[in-house]
Amino acid sequence: MDQKLLKGKPVTEAVYNRVSQNLAYLKEQGVQPRLTVVLVGEDPASQVYVRRKGKACEKLGILSDTVVLPADISEHHLLDKIKTLNADSRNHGILVQLPLPANINEEKVIMTVAPQKDVDCFHPQNVGLLVSGNPYMLPCTPAGIVEILKYYQLETQSRHVEVVGRSNIDGKPMVNLLLQKNTSANATVTVVHSRTQHISDHIRRADIVIAAIGQPNFIKKEQLKEGSVVIDVGINRIDADNEKGYKLVGDVDFDDVYDTVSKITPVPGGVGPMTIAMLMQNTLTAAAAQNNIKLPSE
Ligand code: NDP
Repeated sequence: MDQKLLKGKPVTEAVYNRVSQNLAYLKEQGVQPRLTVVLVGEDPASQVYVRRKGKACEKLGILSDTVVLPADISEHHLLDKIKTLNADSRNHGILVQLPLPANINEEKVIMTVAPQKDVDCFHPQNVGLLVSGNPYMLPCTPAGIVEILKYYQLETQSRHVEVVGRSNIDGKPMVNLLLQKNTSANATVTVVHSRTQHISDHIRRADIVIAAIGQPNFIKKEQLKEGSVVIDVGINRIDADNEKGYKLVGDVDFDDVYDTVSKITPVPGGVGPMTIAMLMQNTLTAAAAQNNIKLPSE
């Protein structure tokens, strides 16, 4: 086995075990957790993600619904639909698959999902709770990264983590999660983005680099400190001479940096599978909170 590779699969298995235990407990208390995913339009990538979420629920025994709405739905009708789902106590988690068609204001949609059911942790109330150090729900991909670091016993406490990218989905919540006052965080975090000058100088100082920029093979070995840990969130399609005509690569040039780093997540098979695993966990967190139940394993 390659000791350098931080594979996501064993970590998801550990998370799914925890989710199964919590699920059994909730069912004993008469609660049937349910996740509702709203898909607007027919974007093929979104359809794939939504199907994967449904399959994960099915495998675990979490109830799930997919609400498919036409691409030309008005913003008003979409918001009404979300309000109806909010009011239905059988739904514990609601997720609106992004991106949305251009005529719909994403921010309004995010604001309309009830914070208690916001399993993506996008609602400003949940973002605020995370920033203030008292999170209700954890953002899925960043929480999955913390799980990877914990599983492979890679300390973040007192270490310098460079987060590359400042999106609302990855970079910013990652920063906030690593700043939490607990032993799975307590990191010294800095963040760089497309307007940062001399970006390599920053990345080269870090013990752990978390790259989430969506630029194929962007980070090279010259930019990394010898022995650093690399978490590659990027999923980029590039042309390839194979049957599919493409392959997936990360934001870090894996082959180039391999000898320089001490540990690295592969793409695919690293961070990728963590997001849905954490979504399952959030669905149970939401179901438990809505029924005033404390989960046995958190
Ligand atoms: P966004 O496009 O929303 O954000 C990209 C961020 O990277 C921005 O902050 C941008 O800076 C910064 N950036 C872009 N180019 C550069 C550059 N050349 N130098 C420095 N910073 C740069 O992307 P996401 O966060 O949504 O996604 C990032 C990647 O992660 C994608 O490949 C995506 O597919 C993948 N992803 C994977 C997930 C998973 O594994 N489960 C989940 C979510 C995303 P600025 O703000 O200045 O524009």
